[in-house]
Amino acid sequence: MSRLTMAHEKRPALALLGLGSNIGDRAANLRAALAGIAAFPDCRLLKAAGIFQTRPVGGAPGQDDFYNTGCQVETRLPPRELLANAQRLERELGRRRESEAAPWGPRTLDIDILLWEDLILDEPDLTLPHPRLEERAFALAPLAELAPDAVHPASRLTVLELLERLGNNNEIVCRLPL
Ligand code: AMP
Repeated sequence: MSRLTMAHEKRPALALLGLGSNIGDRAANLRAALAGIAAFPDCRLLKAAGIFQTRPVGGAPGQDDFYNTGCQVETRLPPRELLANAQRLERELGRRRESEAAPWGPRTLDIDILLWEDLILDEPDLTLPHPRLEERAFALAPLAELAPDAVHPASRLTVLELLERLGNNNEIVCRLPL
């Protein structure tokens, strides 16, 4: 068998990530995160969305708006290893303030794996697609720029259909260039 057709050489997977920041220089945090993702092993950053300024969902009152973006990554890493790289980057770029430990709290950087091809996974440390993707305009709006036709493997609706289904819920304040 030639090197090119060896059975174990699987084609890379396409993953869609969501990024958010609402502490410090939020746009700079997102740009630094994208540079960090581009340097992940066995990954290629294919494209990034613009920045969406969004109102915080849940959590303590008085938080700053979030800046959210998303990116598409081609990777040969298994999902759990991509998540481990993302969590390391969150720790490197975040200062781990007390407030960042709280669920729904403010954070310097949050990275979620939103979609991984049509993989459905439900494990304690990793759920795919991301469990709240379908309800979150702040995650769907960047994805709609990157892959509007990507299909959510559970609902079978596309990213664009999911975003349209949410309607105008005032979560998104404006879109900024990256
Ligand atoms: P958060 O505080 O929102 O960043 O949530 C982080 C926790 O969610 C971690 O413990 C992850 O293991 C878990 N998690 C489950 N599914 C996902 C996913 N698709 N992307 C990112 N984190 C996930």
